Amino acid sequence: MEQLDDGREVYLNGQRIKVSEVPIFRKTLALNNQYYALQRTHPQVHTYQENGRTYDIAFKVPRTINDLRQKHQAYQEIAQSNNGMLGRTPDFLNTGMAVLAERSAFLGHNQYTDFGENAKHYAEWIKENDVFISHALQNPQLDRQKAINGIPSGYAGVHVLERTADGIVVSGAKMVNTMAPIADDLLVFNPPELLLEKGDTSYAVAFATPLNNPGVKVICRKLLDHPGYTEDDYPLSNALDEIDAYIVFDHAFIPWNKVFVENDVEMSNRFFIESGMFIHTSHQDEVRGITKLEFATSLAIRTAHVLGLDGFLGVQEKLGRLTANLELIKGTITRSEEEGHLDEFGIYTPSQQALLAVRSTLPEFYETALKAAQHFAAGSMVGVPGFAEFKGENGPLLEQALTTDRAEAQDRSKLLNLVFDLTTAGFGQRQLMYEYYHGGDPMRIRSMHYHDENLSAGNAMLDNLLKR
Ligand SMILES: Cc1cc2nc3c(=O)[nH]c(=O)nc-3n(C[C@H](O)[C@H](O)[C@H](O)COP(=O)(O)OP(=O)(O)OC[C@H]3O[C@@H](n4cnc5c(N)ncnc54)[C@H](O)[C@@H]3O)c2cc1C
Repeated sequence: MEQLDDGREVYLNGQRIKVSEVPIFRKTLALNNQYYALQRTHPQVHTYQENGRTYDIAFKVPRTINDLRQKHQAYQEIAQSNNGMLGRTPDFLNTGMAVLAERSAFLGHNQYTDFGENAKHYAEWIKENDVFISHALQNPQLDRQKAINGIPSGYAGVHVLERTADGIVVSGAKMVNTMAPIADDLLVFNPPELLLEKGDTSYAVAFATPLNNPGVKVICRKLLDHPGYTEDDYPLSNALDEIDAYIVFDHAFIPWNKVFVENDVEMSNRFFIESGMFIHTSHQDEVRGITKLEFATSLAIRTAHVLGLDGFLGVQEKLGRLTANLELIKGTITRSEEEGHLDEFGIYTPSQQALLAVRSTLPEFYETALKAAQHFAAGSMVGVPGFAEFKGENGPLLEQALTTDRAEAQDRSKLLNLVFDLTTAGFGQRQLMYEYYHGGDPMRIRSMHYHDENLSAGNAMLDNLLKR
């Protein structure tokens, strides 16, 4: 943790802070580090050998369906260690690094440097050192009806101010970056949607930078934990906060060997998808997503049981809807693996249509599970006394009054606190927003899905029926 006090400029609530001094950051980093711990405790799944060295399985270039299945299991176990609440554990981008190293030649070169080689060497360096990277792609939502270059402040994206034989100097901003305060490195590029336009040339960059690079500022959003209360009161929000931050660049120098795209709108727009990072990180992301959906589904079912609601047919119908949704999502992830193909580099690549079906649907299924738990817990969850009451003069009374055949008073209260935290408190609302938006706007994902779907069988039937 103290290694993160490396001179990085992190701001919280108006103050420049040391990351190690924020209790919720310490807890979040400890949970995030389960990624590393599992390499030691469950190496059969979490590691693989290459040239006599051991690496995390995320870095393995998948060549067969079994490689993808092993990665699936590893992602799932990492996600289970945080109940699916940490979206950006290191395995997310590391699986992207594996394929970037293989596919980077398309990035080309300029008079100073070879971008393809830079990306390859960067990805290899991340792998050799198991560095924790986060990523910032989305540009600030200042005025979406204007091109980035039509917004004169210079903060509608990150742009190049100066280029020399040594590298580039950049300024500007990225809208939000999850985990930035506690990551080691930051990968900056532009999104595959909301594409850059012709005049946006100086914004057409992709690069990596250490988070303690002078000129990089990490300005955190407000924290979502509840100091003064315990994890019995707030079982999730007092245990972790996958902190999001606004990232500002103020004349930050980036050496050429960390630059992957520069001064090239078309390449900037192609970077995420053509590097293979989009599809392979999506696989990790959706496996993590189902893990969270499983958690929310079980929470709704446990709540219905503890409150004595699960005997009602109408409630069972709601619960059956949740379990059916879970099966559909699990099946679609499996389908993405089974319908995979070898790309032109011999990389076994999951089906994008199956993964995007999950990405566009999972947020609604997740929200349905939350709503079910929230409606079951109804008034109970807002009437739960603070846990300190159990130790005060009202303790014996509360123990007696809140104990039922189905649960002891404190167990029941903790469950209801968990429902409140995940469905109603700021933490839970942020998690819901995360599911909706972290992987891009669902509206655009659905539009992309419809364009790419293979409808030949349906169309053949239609043509046959309609022919005259
Ligand atoms: C919790 C959280 C964590 C995140 N973490 C990261 C991160 O680590 N790194 C990162 O880079 N990004 C991150 N993001 C940002 C995420 O990538 C974006 O939120 C997402 O891509 C959607 O983009 P946007 O928010 O800019 O919304 P926009 O694309 O601006 O859309 C906003 C709204 O306007 C509507 N809209 C926009 N354009 C149109 C149009 N042409 N027609 C009709 N409607 C339109 C959309 O439907 C949507 O409802 C995070 C987001 C969240 C919520």
